Amino acid sequence: MLTQAEYLAIAEQINFPTNAWIDGSYTPAINGGTLATINPATGQEIAQISACDAADVNVAVDKARQAFEAGSWSKLHPSQRKQVMIKFVKLIKRNQQELAVMEALESGKPIKDCVSIDVPETIDCIQWHAEAIDKIYDQISPSGDAALGMIVREPIGVVACVLPWNFPMLMAAWKLGPALAAGNSVILKPAEQTSMSCLRLAQLAHEAGVPAGVINVLPGLGETCGQSLGLHNDIDAVSFTGSTEVGRLFLQYSAQSNLKRVVLECGGKNPCIVLDDAERLDEVAEHVVNAVFWNMGENCSSNSRLIVHSAIKEQLMVKVLEKTRDWITGDPMDPRNALGAMISQQHFEKVMQYIEGAKQQGAELILGGSAIELNNGLFIEPTIFDQVTSDMTIAQEEVFGPVLAVMTVNSAAEAVALANDTCYGLAASVFTSNARRAHNVARAIKAGTVSVNCYSEGDMSTPFGGYKSSGFGGRDNSLMAHDQYTETKTIWIDLSTESDSQLD
Ligand code: NAP
Ligand code: MG
Repeated sequence: MLTQAEYLAIAEQINFPTNAWIDGSYTPAINGGTLATINPATGQEIAQISACDAADVNVAVDKARQAFEAGSWSKLHPSQRKQVMIKFVKLIKRNQQELAVMEALESGKPIKDCVSIDVPETIDCIQWHAEAIDKIYDQISPSGDAALGMIVREPIGVVACVLPWNFPMLMAAWKLGPALAAGNSVILKPAEQTSMSCLRLAQLAHEAGVPAGVINVLPGLGETCGQSLGLHNDIDAVSFTGSTEVGRLFLQYSAQSNLKRVVLECGGKNPCIVLDDAERLDEVAEHVVNAVFWNMGENCSSNSRLIVHSAIKEQLMVKVLEKTRDWITGDPMDPRNALGAMISQQHFEKVMQYIEGAKQQGAELILGGSAIELNNGLFIEPTIFDQVTSDMTIAQEEVFGPVLAVMTVNSAAEAVALANDTCYGLAASVFTSNARRAHNVARAIKAGTVSVNCYSEGDMSTPFGGYKSSGFGGRDNSLMAHDQYTETKTIWIDLSTESDSQLD
């Protein structure tokens, strides 16, 4: 890890990408429009970024389609795609400091996390899918000797990936990795607050040998650029990560246009259950704190509800409060800080409203609850509410900030009932020393990922996505991610003519 001064020096040197990336080069929006990208830790404008709309979407889709049909990527041998993607990974590694700094400046995430999590996981993700692609087999059906039934996978075509601002580069990688590996042409639409790392990734991919038109990045607003992608008749699939509210719109866009495939990775109100037989409460407390405050709680799988058994609650809460004090909020460019800034003024106000609302609804504020005045940045203290009940807004809605809601139960059954009492089902954790109990609780929770005796989303080899209103249509990560970006084709070959039945 470098020092704050060294990271600031890198920031000074960066040539920020500001234009859209279409057909292998940076290009301004056709209408000349731009939007400001702001450093949320200082309130200062970093750059003006091209704001693309329907006209740019039309051009990018045409270029993406031409590249797909030309076969310069889609028909390459899988091992050749692998080689280019491995070169792409090497270029990301070579530029990792610059990418980490860009990410921290634009998103307010702590540089410590950008360096140790976002960039390395981006690298792992693209490498994992690159290395997988020449090891995946298609299938032959049990068709007997009279026919050959082949079940083959083909890239789906032109894929739009619509991204959130909380893990800008990593969410781009989660989609780009499998989509590229499978041979598709891709159009990325980053969130309006965080376009730069995604634009830089596209340039690096091109430098590595991904042909022009195969990756395009269209920065811009959701209501214009995002909607145009959703409604475009020549896009075959949309992979979306963001809020449930906007996710629903993509299903409507699909129905109103060409029935493009839609996969949604949406929000969560994830429970962390600590049962009365949980052991090593110091470690449990560390997981609880990390699960809620990591990335300032701007994390879809943030464990923002702590559901704790009354028998150990007091003991655990002492440790949780103690560990939280180690999570220092401050300048994201200082590697000693664990929490940075909220992404935008609007989001900052939304989180503060949830805090006020929780107080008014009778939750007991036991830590934090205030904004921190620092460098005109959007900082909020790690905040903990006790005495939360399931009817309160902070027990039901995704706060997406550093706010923990603590709820008390007297049995595992009560914990599971509370855990399942939201419209979401993305992730959950359970702490217990009894393996049978862990398994039973994990099975009873309606969520896409349940971690036991840790807070974890699994790794690249495990699928990630949600039950209920947390997701729709598919999974990110693991080989299952390839299902999002491939079509299945049956090729049925008749082998039954008389002459063919003879060997000579
Ligand atoms: P968001 O507001 O839903 O935005 C996501 C993307 O959709 C952005 O690129 C946005 O563009 C675009 N968009 C907004 N309105 C649109 C519209 N009317 N039509 C088409 N596109 C539109 O979500 P966010 O605030 O960026 O991210 C936070 C959310 O993402 C949280 O709910 C979080 O749980 C979820 N998330 C889920 C996962 C997961 O894997 N399940 C991972 C990370 C985050 P603009 O930026 O211009 O608004
Ligand atoms: Mg917006």
